[in-house]
Amino acid sequence: MIPGLPYAEQLPERVGVLVLGSGLAGCAALLAAAEAGQYAVMLEKTSDIGGSTVKSAGLSAFAGTEEQSAQGIADSVESLRGDLLNTGRHLSDERLVDLYCEHQLETYRWLRSHGVRYGEVHAASGQSVPRSHPTDTTAMLVHLLRAAGRLGARLVMEAPACRLLREGGRIVGAEVEAPDGLRRVSADAVVVATGGFSQNSELLTRFAPQMDDALRAGGSGCTGDGLLMGWQLGAGIVDTPHIKGTYGHYFEPHPHEDGTGVLAVYKGAIAVNREGRRFVDESLPYKEIGDAALAQGGTTTYQVFDARVLARTNDEVAIYDFAGRDRAGMLVKADTVAELETKLGIPEGSLVAAVTDYNDRIVAGERDPLGRRHLSGGVGSPFALEQPPFYAHPSGTVVLATYCGLTVDARLKVVDVFGEPIERLYAAGEVIGGFHGAGYMTGTSIGKAAIFGRLAGTHAAAEESEREW
Ligand SMILES: Cc1cc2nc3c(=O)[nH]c(=O)nc-3n(C[C@H](O)[C@H](O)[C@H](O)COP(=O)(O)OP(=O)(O)OC[C@H]3O[C@@H](n4cnc5c(N)ncnc54)[C@H](O)[C@@H]3O)c2cc1C
Repeated sequence: MIPGLPYAEQLPERVGVLVLGSGLAGCAALLAAAEAGQYAVMLEKTSDIGGSTVKSAGLSAFAGTEEQSAQGIADSVESLRGDLLNTGRHLSDERLVDLYCEHQLETYRWLRSHGVRYGEVHAASGQSVPRSHPTDTTAMLVHLLRAAGRLGARLVMEAPACRLLREGGRIVGAEVEAPDGLRRVSADAVVVATGGFSQNSELLTRFAPQMDDALRAGGSGCTGDGLLMGWQLGAGIVDTPHIKGTYGHYFEPHPHEDGTGVLAVYKGAIAVNREGRRFVDESLPYKEIGDAALAQGGTTTYQVFDARVLARTNDEVAIYDFAGRDRAGMLVKADTVAELETKLGIPEGSLVAAVTDYNDRIVAGERDPLGRRHLSGGVGSPFALEQPPFYAHPSGTVVLATYCGLTVDARLKVVDVFGEPIERLYAAGEVIGGFHGAGYMTGTSIGKAAIFGRLAGTHAAAEESEREW
């Protein structure tokens, strides 16, 4: 239990806005509904708040912020919109992209007004300018929940919703698994913010069998409950073909594994498979490297680099904290590439050949056969890996988030398979689809949870109440 959060012991019988799930989407929805004057109650399935949000790297994609200005970064909503559409290969629902763009800056300011603070902004996948804003996600949720609590909102833990209740053509509440059996909570509107299904193997195999060899991360409660509850009522589901894994995750459980992995490839490393061969243009988005790594079979590949790459470590950005990984004993280290090859059990001579070929082509100014021209996206120049010691980070592909989900309209109202809104049912965060299209820009899962969660809570709160107080 976190001190100061507005926990309630009992399930209420009747509320204004019922929010399912305590990740960022749910917390933003709860606070927005409470700010709109509603009696808002959140149900969380597990004994901890935060779902995948508190396990994440905490990067939010915003454009035009104070942090960017302070770092001299010129960004604009037009540039953000262009990057979102390009990253999604123009398969996203443009209404949702526009909604994100229209409300991102006011949501950023709203979060800051509630005490959320961001660190140094940096560039990541899909961003033509640096716009990944890091924050402490647990602190962020605590700020939002405390503010909601001051307005009378409440949070009930270990209260999994199992069915949405519909009467007279509209949603009237949810059925909840309580310690004493199934209980009904009536509501004027429900916001589903139950996250994705990265922890549900059966659903992953059904929608993304190509991920069967991938590792899994995310909140323990992220098993697709909201998707199934919406599905039962005829909700549409989009973007299932675009579930992707993220590259760079340590391949076995390790006490220092924080769930984020490292991306030494973006600072100069190469990626090789267990035969010691490079298999991808390492400057590609990490989701695409993830696909290429899975195609190598098994879970393990290696990011191989030298002392020059290690020196580019940044302990403030988890994915670039190479020195931290070294201290934690997660890097394989050797004085020569040949010795590294032996330690990794890679066939003799193959890693040496791969590194030699890579280095020789760079020195000769020849074209890379896999098409690598930059370190990351269109930024940075590859350099020869020749400064000992040499390192390898065992790296697999992990499903962190599922990106697909329920169809919603521009008011975040859930829409059924025929395009009809399901009255008084709203959804936000990872449980919705349509926004990312075929690709993912770093920071937009957290971004969309905050922006759409807040909007869903506001719209849900505007539903006419039928309560008699
Ligand atoms: C390791 C990792 C790193 C990541 N890094 C980033 C990043 O840097 N930037 C970014 O944009 N995205 C990142 N992501 C993805 C991002 O964290 C999530 O997509 C986002 O936080 C989802 O927020 P949410 O509120 O929709 O869901 P969640 O935060 O997952 O919250 C959903 C909550 O709903 C609860 N719940 C589920 N079912 C029920 C039910 N039936 N009844 C009641 N409660 C229920 C769950 O227990 C959970 O607490 C990362 C994810 C991981 C795992």
